[in-house]
Amino acid sequence: MDTERITRREPGRTTRHHVVDERYAEILFSDFPKLSRIGILDALADFPQRGAIEIAAWASKTREPRKALRAWAAKNRPRRTRHGTCSGCSGVFRRRDLIELGEDNHDNLTHFHGDRLCGECADNAGVVL
Ligand SMILES: [Zn+2]
Repeated sequence: MDTERITRREPGRTTRHHVVDERYAEILFSDFPKLSRIGILDALADFPQRGAIEIAAWASKTREPRKALRAWAAKNRPRRTRHGTCSGCSGVFRRRDLIELGEDNHDNLTHFHGDRLCGECADNAGVVL
């Protein structure tokens, strides 16, 4: 059997597995300061980095870059993960992991109703879950 005629496709080298994470969002933010760090993460988390650069570049050339990026994400990634900043440590977390403070779960003067805290800050502030 002539095996030389069987063409085997080389596994294509791709960068699709390099996706936007918090660190990469920071890099994009330093390149495109008209966007916001959280906005980039919200719109482009887990999106291939190469494509993310193009979208960030496009958005920052528009008249309202943050709004353009949000609109792009709403249209193209309706089920994306939203992010937020902890009112305690300023860390970035998935919004669903932040605990929103209200009358029913906290009673101290360090944080206000409506603040969002990460688990660790909530523990330190004595938030009742
Ligand atoms: Zn925190």
